[in-house]
Amino acid sequence: MRQVAIYGKGGIGKSTTTQNTVAALAEAGKKILVVGCDPKADSTRLLLHGLAQKTVLDTLRDEGDDIDLEDILKPGFKGTKCVESGGPEPGVGCAGRGIITSINMLESLGAYTDELDYVFYDVLGDVVCGGFAMPIREGKAQEIYIVASGELMALYAANNISKGIRKYAVNGTVRLGGIICNSRQVDNELELLKAFAEELGSQLIYFVPRDNLVQRAEINKKTVIDFDPEADQAKAYRSLAQAIDENKMFVIPKPMKQERLEELMMAYGILG
Ligand code: ADP
Ligand code: MG
Repeated sequence: MRQVAIYGKGGIGKSTTTQNTVAALAEAGKKILVVGCDPKADSTRLLLHGLAQKTVLDTLRDEGDDIDLEDILKPGFKGTKCVESGGPEPGVGCAGRGIITSINMLESLGAYTDELDYVFYDVLGDVVCGGFAMPIREGKAQEIYIVASGELMALYAANNISKGIRKYAVNGTVRLGGIICNSRQVDNELELLKAFAEELGSQLIYFVPRDNLVQRAEINKKTVIDFDPEADQAKAYRSLAQAIDENKMFVIPKPMKQERLEELMMAYGILG
C-alpha cells in the first residue's frame, strides 16, 4: 500500500488534482482510500457526485465514540473509499487536530486494509502546524507531492512545505515525490517549475494545463475523468496518475532561501 499526501497552497487545485488522479487510478483498477484533511471537507465531493459527506469530527460530535466505519467512509467513483476529516467550528480549536483524530479513528476501525493499493491524503498546506503535518509524521504518508504554479505565493508555500517535509524526512521515511504544476498560465511557467523542482533536488512530475472543462465538470459534481473521459484534460490527469504510479524518484528536499526563490523568479522573467 502506498500512502501519498498532496500538499499545496489553498486554492491551488489540490482537491481537483487529487480526485482526478484518484479517478484515473481507480479507472485503471487500483483500490484507493481518499482521506480529506482540509476543514473545508471538499476533498471527495467530485468522487461522491456531491453527496454531502458527514465528516469524522461531526460524526464523533453527534454520535459519540461508538461509530462504525460505514458512518464515515462512503463509496465513490469506481469503488474509491472516501473520508472527510472535517474541522472544528471556525475560530474554535486547532483545525489540524481533526486530522489526527480522523486517522486514529480510521486505524482503529480497520480502514487500512491490505487490499488497498493507495491511500491519498488531501491536506491543507499553507500552515505546516503539528496537525497538518500529521500525515507525514509517524510514517503515515511516505510520499508527498506538492501542487504549485508559477505564482510567487504558490512557490513560496511549496518551499515552506518542503521545509516541513525535510524536518520529518531526516529522521523518518517520508520523501518528496515531486512537484505537480497546476498551470496558472504564468509566462515561462513550465521552465520555472522545472528549475524550482530541480533546485529542491526533486522533479517536476507533471504539468497540468489550465482548462475551463475542470470548472464545468466541477459544477456537475464530477471529476473530468468522469464527466468527459475523452477530453484532453482527462488524458492529462491519466498521464499524471501514470507518472505517480511509475515514480521512482523520492528525495529529501533541499528548501531554498527566500532570496533564492525570488532570484529564480527573476531569472525566468516573472518578477521585476
Ligand atoms: P484546493 O483544494 O487546493 O484548495 P481546488 O482543487 O478546490 O483547490 O481548486 C480551486 C479551484 O480551481 C476550483 O474551482 C477548481 O475548479 C479550479 N481548478 C483547479 N485546477 C484547475 C485547472 N487545471 N484548470 C482550471 N481550473 C482549475
Ligand atoms: Mg481542497
